[in-house]
Amino acid sequence: MADPKQTKFVLDESKLPKSWYNIAADLPWPQHPPLNPQTGNPLGPDDLAPLFPMALIGQEVSSEREIEIPEPVRDAYRLYRPSPLYRAHRLEKLLGTPAKIFYKYEGVSPAGSHKPNTAIPQAFYNAQEGVKRLATETGAGQWGTSLAFAGAMFGLEVKVYQVRASYDAKPYRRILMETYGAQVVASPSPDTNYGRSVLASDPKTSGSLGIAISEAVEDAATRDDTKYALGSVLNHVLLHQTVIGQETQLQLEMADVEPDILVGCTGGGSNFAGFTFPFIGAAFRGGRKVRVIAAEPTAAPSLTRGIYAYDYGDTAHMAPMVKMHTLGSAFMPDPIHAGGLRYHGMAPLVSLLKEKGTIEAVAIPQRETFERGVEFTRAEGILPAPEANHAIAAVVREALKAKAEGKETVIVFNHCGHGFLDLAAYENYLAGKLEDLDLDQGKIDAALGDLPKA
Ligand SMILES: *Cc1c(COP(=O)(O)O)cnc(C)c1O
Repeated sequence: MADPKQTKFVLDESKLPKSWYNIAADLPWPQHPPLNPQTGNPLGPDDLAPLFPMALIGQEVSSEREIEIPEPVRDAYRLYRPSPLYRAHRLEKLLGTPAKIFYKYEGVSPAGSHKPNTAIPQAFYNAQEGVKRLATETGAGQWGTSLAFAGAMFGLEVKVYQVRASYDAKPYRRILMETYGAQVVASPSPDTNYGRSVLASDPKTSGSLGIAISEAVEDAATRDDTKYALGSVLNHVLLHQTVIGQETQLQLEMADVEPDILVGCTGGGSNFAGFTFPFIGAAFRGGRKVRVIAAEPTAAPSLTRGIYAYDYGDTAHMAPMVKMHTLGSAFMPDPIHAGGLRYHGMAPLVSLLKEKGTIEAVAIPQRETFERGVEFTRAEGILPAPEANHAIAAVVREALKAKAEGKETVIVFNHCGHGFLDLAAYENYLAGKLEDLDLDQGKIDAALGDLPKA
């Protein structure tokens, strides 16, 4: 056993992963192919070529277990990777639990979250194939910030369609994106046909992620110099995030423990997948089985209350249809503070694992997530993003179970980002103004009425 008081487990730069781990190689079941939203036929590379560079299309459908990380991408990763793993000694003490709690901390990236892990390679492959400009959407502002940063690394112009509600509520995210050199507009915007049509019918709309995706896809599809970049959900995005789990495996060896439970929060599923897939893959290959828990908000409960079906990824039905746990592409989640978790669907790979029972999911109400996030901040000092508070709340539930059972359960979670630009949400919580709203089944049923007929 390592020093029992050891708190940080830090890897040398030489331990930065040399390849991404592709779980497709180890899945015991076939995947369901993405479909063309107009024809309903399986997508070919030609359908995706206007939107993505060939290297990423190749990764999207690859079944190779290890995909080499290009050296320029590893060099950019060196700015903040390997990221630290911490033992949460003070949280354990506060809870009085015999459980051992560890967290991998992705808030050390320049953008403050895990998202640069995929923004960097996406910018790199686009630049390598001669693309000059990237279009994307951002909800909470984390993805837009990450792509703006990555664009600056590889000399690409970046246009960000930021959901109107977040554009108005989070000026600091916009300023950070602009400082990296990106152009930011509120979505719906007058810059696209789709944006103009939404504004015409509802000039005061606060927008949604689904609408912003439609605008960014239209931008990329209608300009030769521009491609689209997505921050979650797709296979290649989950793949890039596996640097998180691979490093964690090495760090848990340093700590001389084996995990019993892994926890991550899920919006589109990318930080959860990147953290857990290397462990799940090892179990598929005959290794140790681990309980894996996805923590989602009760306001957007795709894994716990959605159905598993083909659905559209965006509001205007321009993005590919994928088989996933979904609340329906017309579903508009309530405006909770964890903006990164307000998506109607879930990554197809994460959905498949949930459907097969490989992973579990819990939905957690907003107030509980902030209660636990504030406890965590007071014990550990690192202020979590509201998204990360969902993982923390699920960890605390398990740590208290371990206490009741007197078990030394090893619980490891992904602390996916810091909350320094989410302080308005904490202000609301501290003022006692956070509400838990019940999500009416009728609202889910209405949105599911819009599913494509498969
Ligand atoms: C975007 C984001 C999420 C949600 O996205 P996933 O793809 O589910 O990881 C969670 N946490 C933070 C900090 C984010 O920025």
